Formats: sequence, structure tokens, C-alpha cells
Amino acid sequence: MVYQRNDVDGLDAAILMNPEVWKASGHVTSFADMMVDCKECKKRFRIDKLKEKKCPECSGELTDPKSFNLMFKTQVGSVEGAQQDVYLRPETAQGIFVNFENILTTTRKKLPFGVAQIGKAFRNEITTGNFTFRSREFEQMELEYFVRPGEDEKWYEYWLQERLEWYYSLGIRKESLRLREHEKEELAHYAKRCHDIEFMFPMGWSELEGIANRTDFDLKQHPQISGRDLSYFDDATGKRFIPYVIEPSGGVDRAVLAVLVDAYRTEVVKDRKRVFLSLSKDLAPIKVAILPLLKNRPEIVEMANRILDDIRGNYRAVYDDTAAIGRLYRRQDEIGTPFCVTVDVDSLEDGKVTLRDRDTMEQDRVEVTKLKEVLGKKLGI
Ligand code: ATP
Repeated sequence: MVYQRNDVDGLDAAILMNPEVWKASGHVTSFADMMVDCKECKKRFRIDKLKEKKCPECSGELTDPKSFNLMFKTQVGSVEGAQQDVYLRPETAQGIFVNFENILTTTRKKLPFGVAQIGKAFRNEITTGNFTFRSREFEQMELEYFVRPGEDEKWYEYWLQERLEWYYSLGIRKESLRLREHEKEELAHYAKRCHDIEFMFPMGWSELEGIANRTDFDLKQHPQISGRDLSYFDDATGKRFIPYVIEPSGGVDRAVLAVLVDAYRTEVVKDRKRVFLSLSKDLAPIKVAILPLLKNRPEIVEMANRILDDIRGNYRAVYDDTAAIGRLYRRQDEIGTPFCVTVDVDSLEDGKVTLRDRDTMEQDRVEVTKLKEVLGKKLGI
């Protein structure tokens, strides 16, 4: 999304910014969820996530809805009483908008171009949970793609497809993903259109990423408070205007969770359940495990370690001899290691090892001298 494109640059902006930034962006007044409390058990819920008008925990009566701002506040300044309230950023996007002028002058980019940022965002969520799906501190990845007004619809469609392709490229199955367009009343205050990329999580279809047409809302809002011009000068036409922006906004934690959920597989092999993580070879943290069939044979252990030394460097490989071979295979299957290499007694004689594929469990005998090349081809490294 960034380094392999000519039209996108990366940025790392501050988490604590001038609080006026969040007034200009509309977050101080509008970044809120409607919530209700249960009069019986006192639990608190987000109203848009409730299926019925009673408490989902104890069926108790609910209070009238109240607006609840999701931004975390802290103070800057060392003098007690004279401190200023500031906010932990609830999204990374605003750091890009307030730096727009700096970015323009330092990167000399011409429209259309994008600025991407990845980093922590903080929201005082009413209810966290579903493992890492919703937390109060999470990793966001956002791209603000600036375009000429009038070309926004075209680029909007482009980014919907581009982002779906990105998830496919991580190995997520097509049937596990879908696009859902926001209804008018669901749209955020800045958005002309918005689609969610949803993933079939264990708790049902839920948002993985939002792609919004934010129009020129943000670049028009900030100058009203800062007084700094955020327009773009077009050399070709000699005209100055405020660009529109298309924003894919995803959560790293949700993407990781989706990858894990989608890769989780079970099957029965010889009457026993086998669990394996069918991670794409690019994402598997460990690419190859070298396993000795017999750990009490020093020649086998030595050969296994020689192989490990030879192949590692380009990717992560590990050695493990802490269990019987069946167990060792299952462990690697569960963490998604695509290949296991086993050294046995025959290896000492014929110079060949067993190469086992995680998904098919097929085993091939491969000459040790060719192993590095064979693995390199299979892993595409
Ligand atoms: P939701 O409706 O689930 O609260 P949202 O529409 O408020 O999400 P956005 O503001 O569009 O979310 O944020 C962009 C992305 O950031 C989301 O698609 C999601 O992947 C991620 N994200 C947002 N809030 C959280 C959170 N509390 N925990 C983890 N990831 C989050």
C-alpha cells in the first residue's frame, strides 16, 4: 500500500496534538456513541449493538439513551491548576490532515496522491471484547488519498477493490469477506459515502475496515480554526482548490484476528483431530522447522543443526526436539509453519531429508544439498 506505490508516502504523526485539532475535526462534539444503562444490573451498552429494548444480560429495563464521547482526555503542563486538557488521538487520520501543507512542500507530490499512517489509536469504548476485535487501545492503519473534486467517485470505487484485494493477498478466502454500504443515517458526519469491508467473524459479519469518501470536509475545517491555508495549487490549470479525500481506514488488530480465524482448520486424521493454521506462507512467522527423528543420536542432531544454519538467514527457521515427531509436527501445524524438515537415520546414509507440507501432510525426500533451493522456490523467497 505504501512502499510499492509511487503515489503514496508514509507518515508518523503525534498521538497528543493540539486539542483544537479535535474541535476542528468535529470529534469534540460528534465522536460519540449513544449508550444506555440497565436499571437492574447497572451494565452499560451501546444502543446500536442492542437487538431488543431490554437488557441483554438480565432483561432489565433500560435508561433513556445518553451520548457518550469516546475520546480519552489527559493533561499537559507542569503547573497544577494551569494544565490544559488534551486528547489521545481516536484516529490517526487527523495527523495527516494537519500536516498536509508540510507533506505537500516536502514530498512535492501531485494529485492524486496518498499519505498513509499506522499507529495506536485510543477510544473509551463502552463495551470491549470479542477477543481483540474491540479494545480501548488499538493499532490503526489509515490512508488519506487526495484527489481532484469530481474524480472522487472513481477513486472511491478503485480503493474499495484495492483494499479487498489486499485482504485476499493475505490469504483470506473470498467467501469470508463482503462489502456493505452505509445507509444515509449511518454515515459519519464527514462522509459522503462509506462502505465497510466485513469479515465473517465467529460472532457474525463484522467490520474489518471502513472506506469513506470524506470529501473536502477535513481540509476545509482545519483552516477555520488554525487560519492556515490547506489548499492545493494545480500547476496545469493555475487554479487553487481543496482536494477531496478517499479514506481506507482499517484496524491492524482486526485484520490479524481475521487472518487467524480464517486460517484455522480442523480435520480428522487416523481417528485423531488435527488442528492446523493454514496461514499464507508470507504471513507464517516461522517458515520452516527442522526436526530430528531421534534426539538421542548426536549425528542426527548435528546434521539437523547444520541444515538449520545453512537455510536460515533469509527467513525464520527453528529447531525443536522436545517431543516425539508426531507431536512436533502438530505443534508446527498449530502455529502455521508451512514446512517441516525431518532428519532420520537414513539421512546419515543417503544425504536426504523428509520435507513435509503443512496443509497436505505430503512428504517428499529431498537431497540436503538441494534443500535450500527447493524451500526458496516453495516459499517464493
Ligand atoms: P465500530 O462500528 O466497530 O465501533 P467504527 O466504525 O467506529 O467501528 P472506524 O472509526 O471506521 O470504526 O475505525 C476504522 C477501523 O479501526 C475499524 O474498521 C476497525 O478495524 C478499527 N477499530 C475501530 N475501533 C476499534 C476498537 N475499539 N478496537 C479495535 N479496532 C478498532
